[in-house]
Amino acid sequence: MAIIMKFGGSSVKTAERIRNVCSIIESRKEQNPVVVVSAVGGITDLLIDTATLAKDGGDVTSAIADIKQRHKDILSELRLDGKLVDGLLTEIEQVIGDIKARLVADTAVMDVVQSFGERLSSVIIAANLVQRGVVAKACVAWDYGMITTPAYGNAEPIPSSFALMKEKIEAVEGIPVITGFIGKDEKGAITTLGRGGSDYTAALYGAALDVSEIQIWTDVDGILSADPRVIPNAKRHTTVSFDEASELAFFGAKVLHPKTILPAVKQCIPVRVLNTFNPSCEGTVITREGARTLDIVKAISCKKDVSIVTIHSTRMLNAHGFLAKVFEVFACNKKSVDIVATSEVSVSMTVDSGESLADILAELNEIAETKVTNGKAIVCVVGEGMKHTKGLAGRIFSTLGKAGINIEVISQGGSEINISMVVDGRDAEKAVKALHGEFFN
Ligand code: ADP
Ligand code: ASP
Ligand code: MG
Repeated sequence: MAIIMKFGGSSVKTAERIRNVCSIIESRKEQNPVVVVSAVGGITDLLIDTATLAKDGGDVTSAIADIKQRHKDILSELRLDGKLVDGLLTEIEQVIGDIKARLVADTAVMDVVQSFGERLSSVIIAANLVQRGVVAKACVAWDYGMITTPAYGNAEPIPSSFALMKEKIEAVEGIPVITGFIGKDEKGAITTLGRGGSDYTAALYGAALDVSEIQIWTDVDGILSADPRVIPNAKRHTTVSFDEASELAFFGAKVLHPKTILPAVKQCIPVRVLNTFNPSCEGTVITREGARTLDIVKAISCKKDVSIVTIHSTRMLNAHGFLAKVFEVFACNKKSVDIVATSEVSVSMTVDSGESLADILAELNEIAETKVTNGKAIVCVVGEGMKHTKGLAGRIFSTLGKAGINIEVISQGGSEINISMVVDGRDAEKAVKALHGEFFN
């Protein structure tokens, strides 16, 4: 049986870190690793920024030089052939040049631009493994079964891709080093699975190959009781349940892409989060049940840049079908909603800021009055133990009240393992700190 080992951008950010990652892979080669990699840390952002600059007619010379230099420096420090990725680097220049000539960058071309990050890193990492004497091969996911829907920026594998992934990867001699995050649709256009999507790629190959474990190697010791950037002494959990991990990922814990858990759940494959900077730490294992622990609350997460859409209609009073209509508008516009709270005459929903709401609002305004408030954050308290604990909501609300934080929307998931609150974005960190202090100190 194989294992999946996925390495994130921060773990492959420099030559030294790539060397470290390759030594971790080598040390586990008896377990038949199938490796999935992210772009070199920061490169996806740089690619996006460069394409945006080109679209706006700006001077991209230094941005392109920067992308080239970062990869050239890594090759030279690793003593690999300096021309190893020249073909890809030239292609980037052509694509960006094309955007600059046409002054357009639609979602399709943005996916092409972003695809280069992982294509470059997989070649470099595979070459470094080979240099160490490990048989390895760089694999661009679309040549190894990752055929997706044409939903640029948010693609999904089509059902027949799983059998293909298995067939193609099993035929690779040595360790496959697969590009995370990217695929192609059935017509051959490049797609991406959404930001942070390499975790999802890892889980998809894990499911296709029915591996014994999907390992997500990152820059922290595992799933912690809060983001360590906010709570430096956050506590590591040795196990969490699939449900807890999904809620946390969905509500802002960047450590896992929200879709990662789904393919694992279907086949009951454990997902383990591990630290490339501390490989001897056993990390956090995510399994169906998790483990019974004394912790009522497992973690506090926070998702920023959220907007509240309030839909108000006096006609809603006793009117059946109103909510259905509201949801239909969101569904038809392919807009996902995180939190919903309803009263007799109004509905509040949260959506990610930055996404265009114009079409949705135009449709909603035909049936109700709408208001959008930006600059909000969702703070989410998660734990299986919450199901059986009385008075918890009161404790959460009074903690925030004592900290002087106003709660604007409240929602408790049907599974009863999470309570989410919308607060002003400026209060988000204060809220996480107050709640962490209440449940973990
Ligand atoms: P990678 O580059 O490996 O994909 P990410 O930056 O996407 O890594 O995710 C790891 C980061 O997630 C950590 O550095 C940490 O700041 C953040 N994070 C947020 N919430 C949590 C949490 N509850 N537990 C662990 N890490 C968290
Ligand atoms: N490189 C992509 C990103 O930065 C995917 C990933 O790292 O998971 O979003
Ligand atoms: Mg990530």
